[in-house]
Amino acid sequence: MENEKLQQIAKKLRFEAVRMVYEGKDGHPGPALSIADIVATLYFDVMNIDPKNPEWEDRDRFILSKGHSCPIYYAALNERGYFEPKVEHFNLRQLGSMFQGHPSMHATPGVDMTSGSLGNGIAIGAGMAFAAKALKKDYYTYVICGDGELQEGVCWEGINTARGRNLDNLIVFVDRNGWQSYKSVEFTVGQNNVADRFRAFGWHVQEIDGHNIAAIKDAVAAAKAEKNLPSCIVCDCVKGKGLSFMEHNNAWHKGVPTDEQFAIAEKELGGK
Ligand SMILES: [Mg+2]
Repeated sequence: MENEKLQQIAKKLRFEAVRMVYEGKDGHPGPALSIADIVATLYFDVMNIDPKNPEWEDRDRFILSKGHSCPIYYAALNERGYFEPKVEHFNLRQLGSMFQGHPSMHATPGVDMTSGSLGNGIAIGAGMAFAAKALKKDYYTYVICGDGELQEGVCWEGINTARGRNLDNLIVFVDRNGWQSYKSVEFTVGQNNVADRFRAFGWHVQEIDGHNIAAIKDAVAAAKAEKNLPSCIVCDCVKGKGLSFMEHNNAWHKGVPTDEQFAIAEKELGGK
């Protein structure tokens, strides 16, 4: 798909994510907007999927390891046609809703793995990638994790195994937005050296602008061209990207726009 079209889709997904949080009166808009361009590119250009057959054995897999960003994930699945009929009101985080505050593979068609307990996505993705090798299938497994999330030790068990088993069919995006729930990543652990750590574990590592669709596409192509090594694409992203009052403002890690703020979102993100 053309980059300009993907940009438009990402903008629409951003609005839908904000609307979902506004209507549900709870949720994490900042971390969702951060990864909108990556999610749009994966779901509308990169991934080999069939929305009408979400359990298709040969589909590419996707894990949103930073599960709290799920509003953008739900918006993408909806726009891509996973839900019939298309969802108008998501009832985000409501009891019994298909759209829980963290993704559940038992609640939402198209969700390949439950997530939200941070740190698990890469190890589970490595398992999916290993299964593809064992079953001689050519699907890819994509994971998006956060830069704060990489403080979870279990990430590095999966990262080590993926390199040891030469899982070149595993592609991990890191949303390096510099923030985590409480404060900045640097404040929390003193440094945000994501790329260096993946390199030290022997991965194929690229560093790109996570809001540049062409760069995202090129990085995926380079990751696929790399044989033997798993790939990490470190994406420089802006938390809250696309909405003036949310950009670079970690207060929007979790929060609900007021009526006035939602009106600004409608204006800046083009409404429906
Ligand atoms: Mg972060």
